[in-house]
Amino acid sequence: MNKIFSRRFFMLIPFMSILKIFFKPMQVFASSITSKGEWNLSKEEWKKRLTPESYYILREEGTERAFSSQLNNEKREGTFYCAGCDFPLFSSETKYDSGTGWPSFWDSLKGSVETKMDFKLIVPRTEYHCSRCGGHQGHVFNDGPMPTGKRYCNNGLALKFVAK
Ligand SMILES: [Zn+2]
Repeated sequence: MNKIFSRRFFMLIPFMSILKIFFKPMQVFASSITSKGEWNLSKEEWKKRLTPESYYILREEGTERAFSSQLNNEKREGTFYCAGCDFPLFSSETKYDSGTGWPSFWDSLKGSVETKMDFKLIVPRTEYHCSRCGGHQGHVFNDGPMPTGKRYCNNGLALKFVAK
């Protein structure tokens, strides 16, 4: 059993590398594509709307440094909005301290985010972005707390918090 498993595992590595190459062009566009015409802005328009740091996260799928966001420690009641288009994405009711250094939630507001696979670290991860403007927010993992078991690991720079 073990032999078969490890053989399969090693066969998977070149396979993943091929997938990575194949999916690379998609990454460039994924955070820009939105079905909402009014949010299909050009690079220049986004640069005018956003700070360089938020542009890097939202439009280039960047990741901020762990423990760098003040929102990591935000414990007030309120709503977290997309920093790109002000669409409500998360409620403070689903926020929790994951210990990772990024604002974390066990659920998103209904219909607020869409997901896609990303192979940036070779191992596939589930990227998620704002369903309105397509701005990259973070990655969702299956090691979160109940009731969903999900961990939405979000960049603070991609969010705006408004207290109740
Ligand atoms: Zn948005």
